[in-house]
Amino acid sequence: MEVNSTEIGRLNAVAAGGAQALLRALAERHGRAVKLASSLGAEDQVLSHMLLGIDPHASIFVLDTGRLHQETYDLMARMMSRYRMHYEVLFPSAGAVQEMVREAGPNLFYESVEHRHRCCGVRKVEPLRRALSGAAAWITGLRRAQSPDRAGTPFVEWDSAHGALKANPLADWTEDQVWDYLRAHDVPYNVLHDRGFLSIGCAPCTRAVEPGEDPRAGRWWWEQDGVKECGLHVSAGAS
Ligand code: SF4
Repeated sequence: MEVNSTEIGRLNAVAAGGAQALLRALAERHGRAVKLASSLGAEDQVLSHMLLGIDPHASIFVLDTGRLHQETYDLMARMMSRYRMHYEVLFPSAGAVQEMVREAGPNLFYESVEHRHRCCGVRKVEPLRRALSGAAAWITGLRRAQSPDRAGTPFVEWDSAHGALKANPLADWTEDQVWDYLRAHDVPYNVLHDRGFLSIGCAPCTRAVEPGEDPRAGRWWWEQDGVKECGLHVSAGAS
């Protein structure tokens, strides 16, 4: 699928009217070929609440790497019960995980950036490719304020790697706006946020951060240099 720049320009103009307006425009144009990528983080909870308000059976997928926190699974279960919804859950290829763990061990990500990228590739990037196969657009919770690498995040762009539109409706939101929205609408959130986790990913690769620390500092904290990304958002300039 190809979308011309006029359509992207139109959607970016719509986004100036708010995240909900963009979600509605995408849903009206593409129906359930629009997919929300959720890691059950705070931003994804805002977007899930908004999107399910537009379409109670909206497509929301989760990449279950097999290494998520128990608290994340608890939130998934809570969401399914609260909104009477179902996630599309994608698992990594069993064969690829078996081969990786046999060759490099279960904790390979701590050993080198290359090994960490291999693990993210097997557990996240390849399942994302499957999730977006046939999708017209995908929605993410990226915000410009999350890291310098995300400072240029547009509302809508063309994701050539996946052949789909990529929409970031919260691109201009602050962290305070996210939490104000969750509280105002009583949206469930991951309890790890109450324990200092700002960004929540896989259990072995995420830690709590101190007040005032970079929001992404809790991800792959043992890596001193380089971009703290896992390859899911290559077209955005660098979860
Ligand atoms: S975040 Fe860590 S455990 Fe999760 S896929 Fe990447 S390297 Fe593997």
